[in-house]
Amino acid sequence: MTTRFTDKVVLITGAGSGLGRAAALQLASEGASLSLIDVSEAGLADTAAQVTEIASGTKVLQLVADVSNESDVESYVQKTVEAFGRIDGFFNNAGIEGKQNLTEDFGSEEFDKVVSINLRGVFLGLKYVLAVMKDQGAGHVVNTASVGGIRGVGNQSGYAAAKHGVVGLTRNSGIEYGQYGITVTAIAPGAIMTPMVEGSLKQIDQDNWEEAGRQFVSANPMQRFGRPEEVGHLVAFLLSDDASFINATTIPIDGGQSEKY
Ligand code: NAD
Repeated sequence: MTTRFTDKVVLITGAGSGLGRAAALQLASEGASLSLIDVSEAGLADTAAQVTEIASGTKVLQLVADVSNESDVESYVQKTVEAFGRIDGFFNNAGIEGKQNLTEDFGSEEFDKVVSINLRGVFLGLKYVLAVMKDQGAGHVVNTASVGGIRGVGNQSGYAAAKHGVVGLTRNSGIEYGQYGITVTAIAPGAIMTPMVEGSLKQIDQDNWEEAGRQFVSANPMQRFGRPEEVGHLVAFLLSDDASFINATTIPIDGGQSEKY
């Protein structure tokens, strides 16, 4: 049976957990070969095992790399091309939340750390993957921004700066590379229940984080957290040829929360 990703190769960063893992599972179920990148070797192995469970014939490459390190990024792109010959889709997704604090207390080291992974890491991925896609004359990229990249959330200086930057990079690269048959989009997830959001709620209330979560989502029009697999469906759509004229824009996936006054 032919599916949307039969004979397609998709590279995913932050593939060892949360949204990266959910996208890997969705794409594998649609026939993609996968190059999975993460700093966590154990996370990668877990994702690869889950992929094999739902789609046993899937070709999976696992590469440990830090997306903020340029030689790591150059190497993960090179190894993916060596293994598969091309890159059809790129989910440029790895990120961290960072500590929550007022601007005056945020700390310049923490700021640099969050920006280095969440913004520089996305830029470096674009730098090396877009060169490959330009030679191919085709490709789709999805960057992970956040509602924190299109709205003010507070207590997130580094995250806000980085994610607004991801929206800017998406616009910039999308308008540059459209002429080569490439689309570059971003997603802006609201609160999706992953280990990152669990960590964030624990920063609000370590002992009663589940109650903090219930209060948090009571403001959402749909009154619930998003599920990683819902993001996986959006990412697969944007990385597929079904989305071939959607470019340079950022799509919220947040139950409508960012539209609410
Ligand atoms: P997660 O913590 O479950 O997964 C993130 C993965 O990225 C982890 O496996 C981690 O090891 C990896 N990673 C972290 N730093 C890395 C680095 N330097 N190099 C390579 N890999 C690295 O989090 P998640 O919720 O799946 O988040 C994925 C992306 O989605 C992030 O960019 C995050 O900012 C964004 N996001 C998440 C939410 C949400 O509600 N979960 C909302 C908005 C945006």
